[in-house]
Amino acid sequence: MQRVVGKFLEYNQHWACEKHAEDPHFFEHLAEGQNPIALLLGCSDSRVSPSVVLGGNLGEIFIHRNIANVVSHADMNFLSVLQYAVEVLGIQDIIVYGHYGCGGIRAAMENEAIGLIDNWLANIKDVIASHQSELDAIPDESDRLNRLVELNVLAQIHNLKQTSVYRKAKKEGRELRLHAWVYDFSNGTVRVLEQA
Ligand SMILES: [Zn+2]
Repeated sequence: MQRVVGKFLEYNQHWACEKHAEDPHFFEHLAEGQNPIALLLGCSDSRVSPSVVLGGNLGEIFIHRNIANVVSHADMNFLSVLQYAVEVLGIQDIIVYGHYGCGGIRAAMENEAIGLIDNWLANIKDVIASHQSELDAIPDESDRLNRLVELNVLAQIHNLKQTSVYRKAKKEGRELRLHAWVYDFSNGTVRVLEQA
């Protein structure tokens, strides 16, 4: 029964009542507009929900998620989110939020044909190709996958810097800070990666 989607609607009813009881103006204030602290690009994986893990309240994190938190320069969906976040919402902090144990990263590494998603995973295969010798030198498979998760986050930071939105913001002297984070759901903590 726990897996029935109806439980989400039940939860929502309780939650909305509770919030309203705590603060009768809570939803009124949210409806006035948003002023998020950061844009976060994360993986679609159901175990990494950023608002839960990072304690983001409603209105605090502008979120885009896809398989393996990829910045693709042909992805109008993400690029539109990025432009809106930077140019309309005035967000200055962008977090790429990968996670260890990522199925998308594993699938790219295993290199087996799955179908349509192979085209998406090609973005990660490019990361593998760029770091082939470093990855080949890691004997343990799970260590190798974990390193690829980190390299992928760093590669997406690099890709962010190549977007027209980022370049325009920099040209106009606007401050944008990029953060490379990896979530570890085996212990619940987020690791901050050093950027070159
Ligand atoms: Zn993932």
